[in-house]
Amino acid sequence: MKVVKFGGSSLANAEQFEKVGNIVRADKDRRFVVPSAPGKRNSKDTKVTDMLYECYGLAEADSDFGGVFQAIKERYQEIIDGLSLELSLEKEFQVIEEHFREKAGSDYAASRGEYLNGIIMAHYLGYEFIDAAEVIRFSENGEFDAETTNRILEKRLDRTSYAVIPGFYGAKKDGKVKTFSRGGSDVTGSIIARAVQADAYENWTDVSGFLIADPRIIYKPERIEMITYKELRELSYMGASVLHEDAIFPVRKEGIPINIRNTNMPEDEGTWIVGSTCQKSKYTITGIAGKKGFCSVILEKDMMNAEIGFGRKVLQAFEDNDISFEHMPSGIDTMTILVHQDEFVHKEQSVVSAIHRLAGPDHIEIEADLALIAVVGRSMKSSRGTAGRIFSALAHANVNVKMIDQGSSELNIIIGVKNEDFEVAIKAIYDIFVLARI
Ligand code: ASP
Repeated sequence: MKVVKFGGSSLANAEQFEKVGNIVRADKDRRFVVPSAPGKRNSKDTKVTDMLYECYGLAEADSDFGGVFQAIKERYQEIIDGLSLELSLEKEFQVIEEHFREKAGSDYAASRGEYLNGIIMAHYLGYEFIDAAEVIRFSENGEFDAETTNRILEKRLDRTSYAVIPGFYGAKKDGKVKTFSRGGSDVTGSIIARAVQADAYENWTDVSGFLIADPRIIYKPERIEMITYKELRELSYMGASVLHEDAIFPVRKEGIPINIRNTNMPEDEGTWIVGSTCQKSKYTITGIAGKKGFCSVILEKDMMNAEIGFGRKVLQAFEDNDISFEHMPSGIDTMTILVHQDEFVHKEQSVVSAIHRLAGPDHIEIEADLALIAVVGRSMKSSRGTAGRIFSALAHANVNVKMIDQGSSELNIIIGVKNEDFEVAIKAIYDIFVLARI
């Protein structure tokens, strides 16, 4: 049994719907379908979700929202006409318009994108439509209630063979609609997969899976065939984005694999995201990701190594200023804290004075404009010389390494370089492991 989620670009118009229809019908195990709202038809287009936010913004300000509302209606009508469906959403739109006037909330407004697309999809496939507001539950304080949702879904889907459940939203106990954060249909798909204990969660999008590195930096990088949840967490955190961050948690509980697939190239195998595997990745590394815009705060204090509680006092200074830290490599009498530059920059002096007050270092130095690169791979643990190869590649590329951090899990090596060396460094690492395959 499979749960299949289709992203906005896979459902942007009737032609895309037809591709989706073919994919679903090609495999009778694709029993539960989770659609997003219609996405962009071309690079200048606007996603329906963004149109809904804009429209509701006008409604809330008591401005005329008729124009945008009409444009949204037309997006759906274009799909209905293109598929020659006997379906009218007129009544639905009347209700939505009324709720906009009554200021039902921006979550309600945004959720209508998926809701309406779900109705069309169910009609088109001949599947039952299940409103996500009935089965995806949020608690009073607006947090997703995983266990209640799972109970409701298990019961509801037990007697259902084929159904469409719109992504992105659910509701509180009183029926008030609440959405996940943007891109949240990925999360809905994962929740449904967990509840029905699916064999696989297929996530259909417009790329054939995860790539080893960012295609804006590496020309046509290779695809990752298989990646573990843990590796993916590391890469996503460092900027690789295809799947919503929270989408792995529900399926991870049940060990259900996620398969990222391309609606426009359904024959491509895509990327498998799994709990664990005995399959070695094709290369020593699974992927490379990174981000620019970090600062390092370097502290020195003689005999720091013998002072119990020094680290805690330093971190207290960051906590008091509401700043989370990314990494903390240390030496005998030195310690470095890496933070996001945009979070840190306006609180800089307040943090520095707090460190002086709490920990009394001899010297503090701050360096800005650093980039962090994560080289991730489950195979690194069992292969010797990975770090050696990374650093000799960087030396040959003339990149000065500012920081190195390898967790004892040996799943990743984090490297700090100057912002301006970021792209060159990623290229050098990709070349040595993937092209040269040393
Ligand atoms: N339609 C929503 C968004 O644009 C949710 C999704 O597509 O997953 O963020």
